[in-house]
Amino acid sequence: MTNITLALGDITEQRVDAIVNAANSSLLGGGGVDGAIHRRGGPDILDECRDLRASRYGKGLPAGRAVATTAGRLPARWVIHTVGPVFSTTEDRSATLASCYSESLRIADELGARTVALPAVSTGVYRWPLDSAARIALTAVRDMGTSVTEARFVLFDQRAYDAFETALNELPPA
Ligand code: ADP
Repeated sequence: MTNITLALGDITEQRVDAIVNAANSSLLGGGGVDGAIHRRGGPDILDECRDLRASRYGKGLPAGRAVATTAGRLPARWVIHTVGPVFSTTEDRSATLASCYSESLRIADELGARTVALPAVSTGVYRWPLDSAARIALTAVRDMGTSVTEARFVLFDQRAYDAFETALNELPPA
């Protein structure tokens, strides 16, 4: 069973097997958590992302999908890049956001990763409200059959941490 834990801090400092990145579909880097991962991880990650783009994702990685690279100088073995949906008030994109987490864990399983750090995908530039994002994220991870032993949500500020803590306490039974 996966143990879901919460941490307040910077995901690039987590000593885990795999770090999940809230990338954008270009895979060529961006701001927020993506920028931090590339800055701290060094250029090897971006080189691998470029290769992936050239070989498999010429049109970009679609939202809800995930793909892995090595982790450069980060204290992890792999980075799993997933693309969150942009929040919409007119279209329900919850299934795509849930898919970011299930796909990331599926890839973690393929890699043999047991400990995984995850950010609050889509809650930054993509504007997904934190309470809703937290419920979707936690439900998707809890309901995923996976060999990952620890799924550690790493929240960058207290507000995000509190939203995840409340959602975790209020998570309906599986
Ligand atoms: P998105 O485009 O999917 O919204 P962002 O990177 O803009 O992605 O934001 C996703 C979440 O990651 C936000 O809650 C933001 O506060 C958080 N974040 C930004 N930098 C870091 C970091 N170094 N570690 C963990 N979380 C971070």
